[in-house]
Amino acid sequence: MMNQEYDIENQFLNRTLTTGECIFQEGDKGDFAYIIEQGEVEISTVTPENERIILNTLMPGDMFGELALVDGSPRSASAYAKTNVVLTVVTGEQVKSRIESADPILKLLLMVVMNYFRSETGRLRSKSEFDISSLDNTKKEYQEKIFQAIELIRLESDLRNGFKQNQLVPYYQPIVDLNTNLIVGFEVLLRWFSPTRGNVSPGIFIPLAESTSLIIPMGEWLLDKALSSIELIKKETNLDIFLSINIAEKQIQNQDFLQVFKQKVNESSVKPQQIKLEILERSLFEGEKALTLVQDCRQFGFPLVIDDFGTGYANLAYLKNFQFDTLKIDQCFVKDLENNVKDKIICKTLIHLSHGLNMTAVAEGIENQEQCEILSSLGCNYGQGYLFSPPVSFERAIELIKTQIE
Ligand code: C2E
Ligand code: CA
Ligand code: CA
Repeated sequence: MMNQEYDIENQFLNRTLTTGECIFQEGDKGDFAYIIEQGEVEISTVTPENERIILNTLMPGDMFGELALVDGSPRSASAYAKTNVVLTVVTGEQVKSRIESADPILKLLLMVVMNYFRSETGRLRSKSEFDISSLDNTKKEYQEKIFQAIELIRLESDLRNGFKQNQLVPYYQPIVDLNTNLIVGFEVLLRWFSPTRGNVSPGIFIPLAESTSLIIPMGEWLLDKALSSIELIKKETNLDIFLSINIAEKQIQNQDFLQVFKQKVNESSVKPQQIKLEILERSLFEGEKALTLVQDCRQFGFPLVIDDFGTGYANLAYLKNFQFDTLKIDQCFVKDLENNVKDKIICKTLIHLSHGLNMTAVAEGIENQEQCEILSSLGCNYGQGYLFSPPVSFERAIELIKTQIE
C-alpha cells in the first residue's frame, strides 16, 4: 500500500528517443531532469563561431538536466540522443519541493556549486573570447553566496560549541495577574552570551538552531532548567509558579517530543500544569497528527498557549479544532494601544474571543501604565512587558518574587 502511494505521488515517466533526436536545447526552459536507462546522450554547446563542441557523453545510470531544475535558469547546454535512448523523466516539482524544505546552509552551498558548474560551462563555450565583465559579476555574486554560506556555517558551529560550553542562559520575564498585580509565572527566553560575538539575538540563533535540529537537544535542556528553576523557587519562596516555554515547530514535529517532556516532568516534583507550552500559530500544522499531539499534551496536563496570535493567518479554524488554554495577544497590538482605536478594538475582540472559547488572555509587550489599564479594563487576565520587567537572570527573578511576598 505504501509503495503504491509512493509511486502515484512520484510518477516517473519514460521517454524514448532515436539516434540524433534533440532532448533539449541551450536556452530552453528547464522543466525536467533525466536519468539514462538505455543508450548514450551527448551534451554539447555551440561557440560564438557556430562550432558545436561536445562537453560530455553520458551513459546509462547518469543524470542530466538537473541544474536548470534546481536554480530555475535556462538550459546552459544542449542534449542529443547519441544512440537510441530510454530516459526516466524527473519532474521539477519533485526536486523543487525538496529544495524548498532543505536546510538553508545546504541550499546556499548547492547554489554555490551550481554557479561554479555554470561558469565553467560558459567558459568552455566561449573559449578565449568570454566576456570578462559578465564573468566578474557572476564571480562577485558567487563570492557573496560563498561568504554567506561560510558565515552561517561559522555561526552554527559557534552555536553548537556555545551550547556545550554553557554560553546559553535562560532568562525569565514575569507574567503578572492584572487583577492582583502579582507575578504568577515567567516566560523563559533564551539568551546567548558569546565571548566572540557578544549578545546574539534569539531572533538569529533560534531559527538557526531550528534549521539544524539543534533545537531538539536545546529544548530538552531548557526544560530541565525550567523544572529545576520551579523547584528552587518553591524551596526559596514556597510559591508554586508556572513557567511558559517556547516550543519550535521542529520540536513539535519530532515524534519523541511529548514522550521526553512527560518523562522529565514525571521525574521532577513539578506538576504538568506548571509548564505552559507556547506554540506559534504558524507552526501549527493541519491534520490528525497535530490534533493528537495537542490532545495528548492537554491530557497529560500541559497548558497550551497560542503565541503571537493574529500576526499569522489568525486562523480561527485552529481555535475551533484545537483546545488551547491561553491566547497570547501579540505586542504589535499593544505597543500603540493607548493611541490607536483599531488596536483597542482588536484587543477587546481577542479577549472576548478567548473567554468565549474557555481560554485566558495574556498580552505581551506592555510598556506603560496606560496600556496596562486599558487591557485590565477590557478583562485581559495576564500581562507581560517592560512595564513590569524585561527578561532577567534567574537570581533576579527570585528577587522579584521575594519582594512581593515581603
Ligand atoms: P516571543 O516568544 O514573542 O517573546 C517575546 C519577545 O518580546 C522577547 O524577545 C521579549 O524579550 C520581548 N519583549 C518582552 N517584553 C517586551 C516589551 O515590553 N516591549 C518590547 N518591545 N519587547 C518585549 P526575545 O527574548 O528577543 O525573543 C525573541 C523570540 O525568540 C521569542 O519571541 C521567541 O519566539 C524566540 N525564543 C526565545 N527563546 C526561545 C526558546 O527557548 N525556544 C524557542 N523555540 N524560541 C525562543
Ligand atoms: Ca513566546
Ligand atoms: Ca510572542
